Formats: sequence, C-alpha cells, structure tokens
Amino acid sequence: MKRKPAAHWSAAKSEELYGFKRWGDGHFAVDNEGFATVQPLGDERKIRILDVVREAVGMGLSAPMVIRFQDLLRNRVSQLNEVFAKAIKEEDYPGRYRGVFPIKVNQLREVVEEIIEAGRDFDYGLEAGSRPELMIALAMHEGTKRLIICNGYKDLDYLRLALLGRKLGKQVIIVVEQLSELDDIIALAAETGVEPMIGFRAKLQTRGEGKWATSTGDNAKFGLNTAEILSACEKLKASKLSDCLRLVHFHIGSQVPNILTIKNAVTEASRFYCQLHKMGFPMGLLDVGGGLGIDYDGSRTNFESSMNYTMAEYARDIVSNIREICTAEAVPPPDIVSESGRAVVAPHALLVVEVVERINKRESLGKHRQPAEKHAIVSSLEATLQNRPRLGKLERFHDAVQKKAEAFSLFNLGYLDLENRAAAEQLFWQICEQIAKEIKKTGYVPEELHELNKLLADQYVCNFSVFQSLLDHWALGQLFPVAPLHRLTEKPSVDAILVDITCDSDGKISRFIDLQDVQDYVPLHPLGNKPYYLGIFLTGAYQDIMGDMHNLFGRVNEVHVFLEDDEEDGFYIEESISGSSVGEVMEDVQYQQADLCRRMKRQIDSATRKDVLKPREGIRLLELYERQLRNKTYLGTEPFSTRPKRKVKKR
Ligand SMILES: *Cc1c(COP(=O)(O)O)cnc(C)c1O
Repeated sequence: MKRKPAAHWSAAKSEELYGFKRWGDGHFAVDNEGFATVQPLGDERKIRILDVVREAVGMGLSAPMVIRFQDLLRNRVSQLNEVFAKAIKEEDYPGRYRGVFPIKVNQLREVVEEIIEAGRDFDYGLEAGSRPELMIALAMHEGTKRLIICNGYKDLDYLRLALLGRKLGKQVIIVVEQLSELDDIIALAAETGVEPMIGFRAKLQTRGEGKWATSTGDNAKFGLNTAEILSACEKLKASKLSDCLRLVHFHIGSQVPNILTIKNAVTEASRFYCQLHKMGFPMGLLDVGGGLGIDYDGSRTNFESSMNYTMAEYARDIVSNIREICTAEAVPPPDIVSESGRAVVAPHALLVVEVVERINKRESLGKHRQPAEKHAIVSSLEATLQNRPRLGKLERFHDAVQKKAEAFSLFNLGYLDLENRAAAEQLFWQICEQIAKEIKKTGYVPEELHELNKLLADQYVCNFSVFQSLLDHWALGQLFPVAPLHRLTEKPSVDAILVDITCDSDGKISRFIDLQDVQDYVPLHPLGNKPYYLGIFLTGAYQDIMGDMHNLFGRVNEVHVFLEDDEEDGFYIEESISGSSVGEVMEDVQYQQADLCRRMKRQIDSATRKDVLKPREGIRLLELYERQLRNKTYLGTEPFSTRPKRKVKKR
C-alpha cells in the first residue's frame, strides 16, 4: 500500500529536520519531490543521490556503497585556496598561501589525483606522514613549484627518498619531529651531497580542544620542545647546514572546534618563526598543520562535532595573526602552509546503506498474551497500565521498572512460566509506550523519562559494518549526519537507531547530530516498499582507510560521479570499484580459495560415499560454496522469488 504524504509534512520540513542546509554547506538539499540532492559545485546543477544509487545498482553494484562526487572534491580544493588568497589580498599580506593535502586523510588514487589536478593553478602540494605516503607523493606530484612536506617518524630510507625528491628539483621539506632525525639528515646530506630543506615541528603549549587535543602539549608524541629546538639549531650550525632551515610547523590535532585555539597556536608558532629568523636562519615558510574542522552537526558551535568558525574566518585569522606578530618583531612575513585534510575531503563522499529489517521491541513480543494461569505480577502490571488517570507518568514508570525486575527474578527462581514472562515483558513495553506518547504532548519532561524514547526506539538493521565503513563513530563517538535519500515528503514517524550486520553489539549508530546536544535516535520512515536507502554524509575523510574487516565484511562498492550536462540526470559514473569478494577477504587472513574448495570437496565426497548425501546434492553444495567465494561479503538482497524453489515431497 502506498502511503499518502501527510498533509502537514513537506520536503522543506525534512530538509530542516535532518539539517541538510546546516551541515550541507551549500552542497546538500532536498528537492520538492522529496529526494536528497547534491550540488557538487554549489551552483544550480543538482543531482538526485538516489539516481546515482539506481544507476550503480544497474551496474551490479548494490549498497552498501560509497559515492564520491569528484566535482565536490575539486570544489573544496578551490574553496580552500580561494579563501586564503582572498584573506591575503584583503590583509595586504606580502606572502603567498602554499597549501598541501595530507595524504593520510584519504589515500585513494582517484582522490589524490583529483586533488592534484584541482590544485594545479594554486601550486597545491602534498603532505606525507609515512614512507609509503611519501612514495605516493613523489610519484604523483608534478613539477617543482608545489611543496611536499614530510612528517611522521622517519627511518633512513624515508630520508633517502626525500633527498631523492630534492635531486629532482622538488621542494621536499623534511620536518624534524625528533632530534635523532636531524643527526640522520645531517649524515645523509654529507654522504649524498644533496642539500635538504628542513623544518622543525614545534611542541606548542597551546592546547587543542576536541577529540584530538593531545596532539600538542608536553605529552604530545611529536615535535621538539624549546630546548630541543635550540640544540637542533646548534647542530645545523655546526654542520654548516644553517641555510637548510626553512619552515616552522605545528599541528594542534584534527577537527579543532574553537577558533580561539587556532588563533593562540598561530600566535605561539609565529613567535617561534620570528625567533628562528632572527637567529639568522633563512626560513620563509610557516606551516599551521591541519585541524580545520567540518561542521558535522551544523550547529556552528565549539561542540566537538562542530566548529564555531567558517573556512574564510580560519584563513583570515591565520593571515592576520601571523602578520601582526611578524610586524611587531620586524620580521618579513612568511609564505603560509596549511595541511587541511578533513576539511578538503570529508564532504565529497557519502555512504549509502539499505535498511533490511525493523526490530520493534513491543511488536516483536507479539500480540498481548493471556496466560492460562495469570501470575499476580502480570495482573499487577496490568493494573499499572490501566491506572493512567490516577498515577503520574514518573510513578507508573518506576512501578513498571520495578515489576519487570520482579518478574525476571520470579522467572529465575522458577515461579514464573514462559507464558507469564512473555506477558510481563509485553505489558512493560506497553506502559513505556503509553508514557512516551503522553510525554510528546507535554512540555517539561523529567530527566529519567528522557531515556524512554531511547529505550523505545526501533532498531533498523542496515546492511553494512560500522567497523568497515564508519570506524570513527565506533572508536571516537564521532557524529555524522544521517538521512533518508528519498520519501522526504512523508513524515518520518519512527524513532530509530541503526544497527549493522556484524555480530557485535557495538556495531550500531545510536548517537545522532542535534543542534543542542546529541540525539539518541533519528526519525525515519516506516519500512514500506523496499528498498529504503539512507545516506551517511560527510564520510570522505579518514573513514575509508581506517575501517577493518570485523566479521570479514570487506570493502564496500564504490562509484565516482562526475557532473555532465548532456546526461539526462546530470551526471555520469566514471569509475566504479567493486567491493571485496568473500574469497579476497579470506585470502587476507591466509586462506587460499583453492585449498578451501579442496577441503570442502573431500568432505562432500566422503559424505557421498557414506550415502549421507546424494551425488547430485554433493555437486550442488560444492557449486554453491565455490560461487560464494566470488560473492560480496555483505547481505545479498535478491528478491525471494529468484531464489531456487524448494520442492516439498509428499510422503
Ligand atoms: C593528520 C594530520 C593532518 C590533517 O589534519 P586534518 O585535521 O584532517 O586537517 C595535518 N598535518 C598533520 C601533521 C597530521 O598528522
């Protein structure tokens, strides 16, 4: 049955409810027909996200899938470079902006290529945090004008590669994080005769804020403290490499929610810069690291999932603070480097998941049971349910909780049978539902009852793994916007949390964005005609690579979308990456596909010989097994009718 859209609901209300405009930053919205849309370039060109999903499904790539909007990625690169260019112009700043993209935030070749391409006009460079990342940077980097910044722990081979880049004329800057690295650099420079470009990472006292606050301060694992910086200067002078010191670097952690932290850190680092310049080092570059945030919840606050500033304000504050300090110290202002990763890549990708099942606590208990011999505790719960006019909400809730506990201990002691236990559970949830309905109509709700909606929320089972596709939600409680991709003209009447298909009770999304606080559930639509698709947005940073293979759920399908005016739907899929097959993830944990099949065959043959299995069944079983190795790891969603029919033999 098709539901008629409720008269009092509209696409605009959905847009508001899910906050599309607030976290979407001009890129995400809802159209009049109730479909979520993306405007990759922030202009009038609009793609319905569900159209992309349908096209991908037509190509054999079903959800869960990652969709990348390559134009949106380009747009972010331009935006970042443009806000700095604008701030520099407005402030009449004598230096340039020379940003770099930190590869660790998304190493996928197509992402890095797009960023390099989009950054051509801005001399936008790359940042590496490990030897493998430096190898990507060296090979992908073009020309000699863009920077390559080398961070992270470095062994001799890392340093050799960096110097090789210098030989090619590239501006590769080795940022010294540990004093011992400097000894290695000095030795290698002498050995190879290559002049390195060196930066110092300063351990700032300015503390970050948010989840990654420990990236600075005394206990930070990276950077040189003041005494170490002085020793490093002496070492450079002693080895006649003073001319190689070009840059001061700091990084106060990712997703900095408060602009004040950034202002303070920039001020502190600018002082370092000026002091080093005055000591006679050539310098020329100040690197403010990463940390530029994404407003995941759209609240524009200094809450950890948000940020209380815009990208433009960030750029203006950095430019003006550096200028102020340099002017005061009479030091020529440096070119400015930043290593924004999250802010550049997070918005371009989203994860699409399909809801496959709804678990409702009360419904799953079935219709109201009347035990043959009703136990007193059941009658007592019935009384609570019927006593609404006499007892307050809180009192009924307390009664119900207490009686449910009592029922469970009676069961454990052997005084309550299954029928009565089922009836008690049923009544408990009925009372909770009754109270929850009353709460919706009143203003003030006592603290204890806030939990009720959370308790009553349905579980929507989604075909994906939090551990593979949304690791930061599980590990750090990071929030991402979640919204249906369609049916947005219908009122979402079900409060739900999302659970994944791993066998892990942690495999769920039970905290959602909210303007005030954190929401314990998200309003969704009743499951009607399937498929029902949800988008989990702003997942382009970190999530792709951090995911793991819990329960052997592997990489998800992926499509890369470009705007195309000539196409009917306004886009085309340039590239698709098929998710992992079962056989592939098996090999990751050392099982050879052929060996597994051999073992299965041996067992089937033996069962056939013993006449446990008919030969024809044996062949079918082996075929099924082999076919599954080529299958994807996630739930197949083939309609039931296409499954082989089981023939029931009459006896
Ligand atoms: C991780 C990291 C970045 C990127 O940080 P974002 O907050 O994603 O911009 C930049 N620089 C360094 C040194 C990092 O470790």
